[in-house]
Amino acid sequence: MGLKIDLETCIGCGACVSACPFGALSQRADAKVEVNEACTACGACIEVCPVGALSMEVVEKKEAAGSLDAYRGVWVFAEQRGGKLQEVAFELLGEGRVLADKLGVELCAVLLGHGVKSCAATLFEHGADKIYVVDHPALAVYTAEPYAEAMSALIRKHKPEVVLAGATSIGRGFIARVAIQVKTGLTADCTELDVDADKRLLLQTRPAFGGNIMACIICPDHRPQMATVRPKVFKHPSPVAGRSGALVEEKLDLKDPAVKVLEIVNAMQNEVNVAGAEFIVTGGRGMGAPENFKLLAELAEALGGAAVGASRAAVDAGWISSFHQVGQTGKTVRPKIYIACGVSGQIQHLVGMNSSDTIIAINKDPDAPIFGVADIGIVGDLFHVVPELIKALKR
Ligand SMILES: Cc1cc2nc3c(=O)[nH]c(=O)nc-3n(C[C@H](O)[C@H](O)[C@H](O)COP(=O)(O)OP(=O)(O)OC[C@H]3O[C@@H](n4cnc5c(N)ncnc54)[C@H](O)[C@@H]3O)c2cc1C
Repeated sequence: MGLKIDLETCIGCGACVSACPFGALSQRADAKVEVNEACTACGACIEVCPVGALSMEVVEKKEAAGSLDAYRGVWVFAEQRGGKLQEVAFELLGEGRVLADKLGVELCAVLLGHGVKSCAATLFEHGADKIYVVDHPALAVYTAEPYAEAMSALIRKHKPEVVLAGATSIGRGFIARVAIQVKTGLTADCTELDVDADKRLLLQTRPAFGGNIMACIICPDHRPQMATVRPKVFKHPSPVAGRSGALVEEKLDLKDPAVKVLEIVNAMQNEVNVAGAEFIVTGGRGMGAPENFKLLAELAEALGGAAVGASRAAVDAGWISSFHQVGQTGKTVRPKIYIACGVSGQIQHLVGMNSSDTIIAINKDPDAPIFGVADIGIVGDLFHVVPELIKALKR
């Protein structure tokens, strides 16, 4: 869809300019209105035009092959929180390096924040050839608007062919806005990425239809090709000490965000987050009741501070909060040891944990699908097995 302006009918009243939430309309010298690329085709202007000079038209907007060629390079959004780079940034750099090498292009990291330049050295060591830094007070605490504005401005200026971001609350929060602003597609929650180097296409694989099939999605007519990937889907690459590259500082004039962050509350408090945990003890419907999760907390403690995970069935039953959910609609984890207690092992759970180094399953049903992915399977009642494990660990 695209905004069509009938200049003959336009009376230059400016009503549409003030109604546009994206600053996409302005008045020319003769007061008639014109539209810029920030237009999202939301239609707010059409409603306020008193003379019906604005309308929406369907535009067949295929980028010409030549203009696609102007886009080169693989970009990774280097997510940081409070100046600390997030694990997913390194994982994406590792995968981005592979894609960039196949395409024969640079791998660039995009670092947004305030006072975050010190993160650059670590990004170079993890594979970035170039880093674009936008250091601005409006980016000090994450809010979607300035993050999207900054990333879109960089994309318009430097034209990368691939942009990757973590499917975290921050990545998910702003990257869809970026895709809209730069008028391209976005594939969320990819579990695998590859490239067709001849056609310069990013092959984006993700579960579809409730996880029953894996779909390979391409974005052939628009650039950049944008994807998000959950933490722990890709491995942390080995850093190369002393590796360096080009640091490009971009000065942007960002608007003050409409949303102000008053306070940041850590909802997890003292609990160990399953995302990033080395040891996870997960309870499913087989736990039977919320109070039985105390048993898993005990096992987690006996393991020296493991995280407690949960299947969606346990979360839906209200036994434990959704922060703990592992799986397709929960978190993707890759711990050293994953102990599944009373979890049947449906595909939507498995996609979130089957990359764990060692999987131990405790289930009283010998035919439970979880045993298909388990390295060690214990057929038995978890209420007998887990206390024995705790005793043994304490010994
Ligand atoms: C779109 C979509 C997204 C989904 N996303 C997720 C997701 O992110 N994560 C997720 O987990 N699920 C997800 N699901 C739900 C998923 O399909 C399953 O329903 C869910 O994983 C089942 O949870 P469960 O294994 O705990 O329960 P069940 O399948 O009911 O299994 C309970 C298991 O406990 C065993 N058991 C019972 N008592 C004991 C005992 N005393 N000792 C030992 N074993 C015992 C039983 O033998 C059984 O195998 C999703 C589903 C859909 C459609």
